[in-house]
Amino acid sequence: MTFAELWRELEPIGRDPQTGGYRRYSWTEADAQCRAWFTGQAAKRGLAVETDNNGNLWAWWGPKRPGAVVTGSHLDSVPDGGAFDGPLGVVSALAAVDLLKDKDFSPERPVVLAAFTEEEGARFGVPCLGSRLLAGVVDPDAARVLTDDAGTTLADAMIAAGTDPGDLGPGDDLLRGIGAFVELHVEQGRALAPMGAALGLAEGIWPHGRWRFVFSGRADHAGTARLTDRRDPMLPYAATALAARQAAADRGAVATFGKVIVEPNGTNAVPSAVRAWLDARAADESVVEDTVTTVRSAAEGLCEEHGVTLSVRQESFTPLVRFDQALRDRIAATLAAAGVQAPVLPTGAGHDAGVLAARVPTAMLFVRNPTGVSHSPAEHADLADCEAGVRALAAILEDLAGPA
Ligand SMILES: [Zn+2]
Repeated sequence: MTFAELWRELEPIGRDPQTGGYRRYSWTEADAQCRAWFTGQAAKRGLAVETDNNGNLWAWWGPKRPGAVVTGSHLDSVPDGGAFDGPLGVVSALAAVDLLKDKDFSPERPVVLAAFTEEEGARFGVPCLGSRLLAGVVDPDAARVLTDDAGTTLADAMIAAGTDPGDLGPGDDLLRGIGAFVELHVEQGRALAPMGAALGLAEGIWPHGRWRFVFSGRADHAGTARLTDRRDPMLPYAATALAARQAAADRGAVATFGKVIVEPNGTNAVPSAVRAWLDARAADESVVEDTVTTVRSAAEGLCEEHGVTLSVRQESFTPLVRFDQALRDRIAATLAAAGVQAPVLPTGAGHDAGVLAARVPTAMLFVRNPTGVSHSPAEHADLADCEAGVRALAAILEDLAGPA
């Protein structure tokens, strides 16, 4: 099948008709449909699909042998996310297999298509949860009790989806069998368009993390409580959001409060609590730490002023990731031989490739995003660029899984 045919099939699943954005949260009905679609497509191609202990899907082309060449990405989305972030890598992988089959290529090392679970952390708060569990960097007991906003634990969500959460944990044998992992992903940001390049290669991933700030005050009546008597957590939170912007701007970092939960969330009530999540990223780990420390001390001062208590907890942190230089050079040579120039770019976005890079030689291929907008229904890549991505991926797989 062509890329466009595959894309059309997956496109409607989990799309909200009001916003046009995707709500493909892990272990939901939309997620189950995406998984079923991927499994069906893999089966049609004669690939053997397996689900690992952590819910990640692996479709094997060729018998299981060491040195597997893995490609893929994720199918879950952020709230009202775009169509491309994640699925582009999975659909391109299927389309690349078709290109290779059309030319009667048969892999000497297995080619494996992967779809990772809960990459965005949109439901349970920890990004790249599936790949982190696989790599053994998240404790399975801690993972099982992660809760979504409705209070459902990961364990219960998995059971409801018919999957046993009892086996969560590292997959050392699986990882040992991987010779290379190449994740194709839509560009997030806008670096390729000004360079006139359809494709790019990742240099590394900025260190990044998430911190949960809880501002606890006292619920009160919005009409009768005198301003001076209030302990309103919204006020220190609001000023903290501004402080985060300033702290990031002063340091060449980025810092975002993108998720806020207000309790009790009533129009006529002074809130009792504001829970807010800070996402901070920078080229350097010390800059991320310094940014967060500055935001935190600003929040502490503001809370004192307003009689509000503060607690801050780090929910995740991912150190600087450098992708494998030798693999990148080899891919660049393959692409150059095919007449494709792919500039090397740093990225501020986290990926499963960033997690796996600690364990296996890993590379990322970006497909141009003309506006740079991502994590939004406006996220886009042109069909011609997606097709160029598929051809490039096929050439890379042919080289990596072909005769030594
Ligand atoms: Zn992604």
